[in-house]
Amino acid sequence: MATRGTLHLIMGNMFAGKTTELMNRIDIMRKHGRKHVLVLKPTIDTRSGRCQLKNFHGRVMPAIEVPADNARRIFDAVNYEIKEDELPDIIAIDEIQFFSQKSRIYLVVDRLLELGYDVICAGLRLDFRGEPFGSTLSLIGLCDGMHNVTLLHSYCALCGKPAHLPQRLIDGLPAHYSADQVQVGGKESYQARCHTCHELPGKPEVDISEE
Ligand SMILES: [Zn+2]
Repeated sequence: MATRGTLHLIMGNMFAGKTTELMNRIDIMRKHGRKHVLVLKPTIDTRSGRCQLKNFHGRVMPAIEVPADNARRIFDAVNYEIKEDELPDIIAIDEIQFFSQKSRIYLVVDRLLELGYDVICAGLRLDFRGEPFGSTLSLIGLCDGMHNVTLLHSYCALCGKPAHLPQRLIDGLPAHYSADQVQVGGKESYQARCHTCHELPGKPEVDISEE
């Protein structure tokens, strides 16, 4: 039976360099580790063009697309590589937050680790409401320790302090709390903001008074 693989999770805010960090690590694994890295992404992200990762410097890297609502299709991509005699050592997945919890991404990554693959994922930690996005945070449950978690922040578009929240803007104004969680966009519809500058009209008050 294969030795269980390890998961490395890169997570953080928009404009924090998650894809760049993932690409850098893939480069090192390929060039210096001579590893065969299979690069995957969910189909929902159309920003970066089909079948490629793209960072903010415009660098692209070929990737295989997997439906965001069915993470089990990741096994099809892995099995195809095996058939081609290109046995992957490492599975890299970008934009992991777009795999819904219903897609069973947690169980799929767990199974890949069980089969002996090392897995490296990058994704948004929080959505525009400041709430957990998809299964990104839950994947910490599959990491061996916090040394396998990289948390990246950006800088606030308004005050310049470290920023952990994506600010969604619609025609330049903050999006309402009730807006859909997923709205793919770039600089025209999102900013990085700190907790002080983040604006979220309609955010429900949490009642912390005693019963
Ligand atoms: Zn700020």
